[in-house]
Amino acid sequence: MRKADIIIIGAGISGAVLAQQYAEIGKKVLVIEKRNHIAGNCYDYMDGNGILVSKYGAHLFHTNDEQVWDYVNRHSKWYHWEHKVLAKVDESLLPIPVNITTVNTIFGLTISSEIEMKKWLDQNRETYLNPANGKEAALNKVGAVRYEKMFRHYTKKQWDKYPEELDASVLDRIPVRMNYDVRYFSDTYQALPVGGYTQLFEAILGHPNIEVQLETDFFDIKDEITGYEKLFYTGPIDRFFEFKHSLEDKLEYRSINFVSETVDTEYFQENSVVNYPGNEVDFTRIIEYKHFGNQKSERTTVVKEYTTGEGDPYYPVPNAKNQQIYEKYKVDADALIDVYFVGRLANYKYFNMDQAFKNALDLFGILESSPEPAFKKAV
Ligand code: UDP
Repeated sequence: MRKADIIIIGAGISGAVLAQQYAEIGKKVLVIEKRNHIAGNCYDYMDGNGILVSKYGAHLFHTNDEQVWDYVNRHSKWYHWEHKVLAKVDESLLPIPVNITTVNTIFGLTISSEIEMKKWLDQNRETYLNPANGKEAALNKVGAVRYEKMFRHYTKKQWDKYPEELDASVLDRIPVRMNYDVRYFSDTYQALPVGGYTQLFEAILGHPNIEVQLETDFFDIKDEITGYEKLFYTGPIDRFFEFKHSLEDKLEYRSINFVSETVDTEYFQENSVVNYPGNEVDFTRIIEYKHFGNQKSERTTVVKEYTTGEGDPYYPVPNAKNQQIYEKYKVDADALIDVYFVGRLANYKYFNMDQAFKNALDLFGILESSPEPAFKKAV
């Protein structure tokens, strides 16, 4: 029998933050992780080319939340990093989010000011006051031509659904720029951890009150786990309930098949991420990791991302049908005493990293009536 005050299933953002918070108030915490490493999908490592790569896709931290920013800075140094994405459209590499350059290149125009850009957009977009789905959200933002060239097929490749089959929120994630701003995010803080995410998680989980048990599937040892005060589960919610509401329709998840290769050249592409929004290839994007933090190496590592329906669940698929199924599981989850469902998979929600940090900190605050996160007292 494994004894601890707090049991946490999963060593990703939500699990690590809760473990650290409870450890700081003197609780003994056991973290049970199925994989052979901590850090969830943020896990990164130094590869054979001497490049820090992320095993499960690039993770770009960005937030406007002071409390979250303060929290992550207590566990790692960070360097300012503004993420940029280019998209390959008609043989050109264009900025995403779409900005003045994107419009001028696609339409052969010479827009040069924010006023002109707004005017052009108003004439060329389709207005939806309350977009009902991802298609309306995208048409409302960028108009039909750019929707077709940059969003429609990419979304189908990413989700195996066309934008009209997804919630508006999915396509609303991407802003539209009225100027030349090429940053992917607009948040105040945009940064990467010096030393990488795995080191950040090592620091968060490094408290002596925390034990991490890797390569252990919670469901294999569930019966041995008793006598805890609270259990936090961060895995897929349907699995916790043995898929009982999924007899007809399953909760859908998307996974990614990462195909990594070494290329014997200094740089493979001009930017860390190049999206391929067209039909001509079936991957969604190519990541060249050495661009992050301007790493130096003779050769380069590139990773093509193929989104699939098989494999580890990474993304919940936000639409009405999945939400309905999720709601059934949520009723069961809410009825459990001392068991809490936290994070992207357990809440079936497409959270960004900073939201995951925030939700875990907030949950701790609510449960322990603590308005401020718990940190090591200065000695
Ligand atoms: N998207 C698109 N074309 C792009 C980039 C994104 O159509 O070049 C759509 C797609 O549906 C995607 C969504 O916008 O799932 C959100 O993109 P984001 O970059 O936030 O996805 P993530 O980085 O979380 O995979």
